[in-house]
Amino acid sequence: MKDAEKMLQDKAEQDRATAGYTVVKEAEAKLPTEYGPFKIVGFRSTTSNEEFVALVKGEIDPNQATLVRIHSQCLTGDVFHSLKCDCGPQLQRAMEMVQEEGHGIIVYQHQEGRGIGIVNKIRAYALQDEGADTIEANLRLGFDIDQREYGQCAEVIKLLGARRIRLMSNNPDKLRALRDAGLQVVERVPLEIKTKEPAHKYLITKKEKMGHMLMLNGIF
Ligand SMILES: [Zn+2]
Repeated sequence: MKDAEKMLQDKAEQDRATAGYTVVKEAEAKLPTEYGPFKIVGFRSTTSNEEFVALVKGEIDPNQATLVRIHSQCLTGDVFHSLKCDCGPQLQRAMEMVQEEGHGIIVYQHQEGRGIGIVNKIRAYALQDEGADTIEANLRLGFDIDQREYGQCAEVIKLLGARRIRLMSNNPDKLRALRDAGLQVVERVPLEIKTKEPAHKYLITKKEKMGHMLMLNGIF
């Protein structure tokens, strides 16, 4: 077959495979990390300006249960190592667990501050300085408790080839969203981090008001 014909056929096959998807894979490269070597894959939404990044390790087999985390960007926790939440250590632990497992996916989505953006998150932190909890602060600023959407993260996971998921999360909304998107969540893998005092109120609020599946040993 001529190269041009082959290219057209490949393109047609790719179009069929991604029909109905609202994210497209744009770029892929190797990413050596302190936790081991990963592949980093960039995706773009076709319905908004949102971009997604996935760290991928090993071969992703649709028949095998794949260890997966959807990590929502937390600039303060992931980059500045803030003690107000458990996000940074959760991401590190997830990378360690995927490395130990030998295969898995971490989707990094840029919905900072449960979807309100970094500047509004700082406004929410200012209200928390005055005594509000994380939910009261978001509501007082006119936002929902949690504005995040996981549908496109589910598409990223599917485009990477996974269908059966062992989800590293304490958040029942994420489990529900992935199941609703047609992924088979065969197991929830708890991702509970021992935190210092500044994060305790936040985690108690998540457990008691948002239904997160946390033991909080050491706090209660
Ligand atoms: Zn955080």
